[in-house]
Amino acid sequence: MNPARKPSTAPGSPGALAFDPEAIRAQFPMLGATMHGKPLVYLDNAATTQRPRAVIDSVVEHWSTTNGPVSRGVHALGSLATEKYESARTAAASLLNAEPEFIVFTKGVTDGLNLVARSLGDELLGEGDEVVVTELEHHSNFLPWRQACLRRGAVLRVAPITDSGELDLDALRAMVNGRTRIVAVTHVSNVLGTVVPVSEIVSIARGVGAAVVVDGAQAPGHLPVDVQRLGCDFYAISAHKMFGPAGAGVLYMSPRWVDRLEPAQYGGGMVELASAEESTWITGPHRHEAGTPNTEGAVGLGAAVAFLGSFDRAAARAHERSLRDAIVAGLGQIPKARVYGPAEGAPIVSFGLEGVHAHDLATVLDAEGVAVRAGHMCAQPLMRRLGVPALTRASIAPYNTHAEVEALLDGVRRAGQIFA
Ligand code: PLP
Repeated sequence: MNPARKPSTAPGSPGALAFDPEAIRAQFPMLGATMHGKPLVYLDNAATTQRPRAVIDSVVEHWSTTNGPVSRGVHALGSLATEKYESARTAAASLLNAEPEFIVFTKGVTDGLNLVARSLGDELLGEGDEVVVTELEHHSNFLPWRQACLRRGAVLRVAPITDSGELDLDALRAMVNGRTRIVAVTHVSNVLGTVVPVSEIVSIARGVGAAVVVDGAQAPGHLPVDVQRLGCDFYAISAHKMFGPAGAGVLYMSPRWVDRLEPAQYGGGMVELASAEESTWITGPHRHEAGTPNTEGAVGLGAAVAFLGSFDRAAARAHERSLRDAIVAGLGQIPKARVYGPAEGAPIVSFGLEGVHAHDLATVLDAEGVAVRAGHMCAQPLMRRLGVPALTRASIAPYNTHAEVEALLDGVRRAGQIFA
């Protein structure tokens, strides 16, 4: 038995959480599926994770017993739905170590980052001001800033990475100057698994009074996230990357911004006073939540936070690391395979097989039931930096196993033979 598969907690230690990948796995109905007649090996978790029974049930239960108009109706069901929605906000706040009044519900990271780029961009950026992003960014944390700069006459600067795929912090430090108004960085690269030193970036940005926006899409599923320790101004997450529903997420806004920022959208639920002559907006997170919210998404997000709290996450991280190491070591033995990215990082492994297009490689893997990502992964600037048009990516969750890593490696070997 692989040591990482043993429950991490000694039996009988009171109150301690255990971690057993097989027990985690058993909670995910989707993982029992077959694809092309083979057991599904799901290694596309950075794109979207599977959902555990507890999350599925939470949404069904909400629809069956508490569905009603949030923050609108005076009737009992409206109050029940509002309670559910607001307790999900509290859960999301606890995940990020924030207070609920600084947690804004969004459709996900893309929505959250577009909100910030619109509202903060309009607030802070003028002619000749600068926004710094990095070469690691997903398009969701690149294009909203590019467009904001175009709108405001500002300049977008892109901090480089090193050849090993780490952020070049010295280069970023040299790039940040008196014109820098916003620094927007990913916490974890969705391509290379690089973990970006957000606290250090915050202290660099603070030196010139710039705001820091963090794309947290790939972080909370793997790492503990503490926005107060990080010290950032904004932090965006998506529920579907951490075992919750798609189309739901939250944006943390630090106390200095939540009531100050102009909303990016106007409509029901965010108004204090509305008339043709004068309109004013409420304070607090609802200011940024115009329209009927995605209550079921919020409920599922809350259940996903509870799920993340139900097992020993340090042990889950060790398990994920052992799988990552096994993939990297295994690929290292396969002729013409090359792994991209730093030696240490989140459990996301992008690789290429010389002479085989990423899509062909992923197609061979798919025929074996192995689901991986292939393409530019919404990170074209990074692909350009790496000098490749596309890569193949295996991304891990706590429910993955060493047997699944073997299936992946067998598939890559097979592709190598087919295209030899
Ligand atoms: N940022 C990163 C690093 C991502 O990996 C993703 C999704 O893959 C996003 C942003 C966009 O997230 P969403 O599609 O949930 O809005």
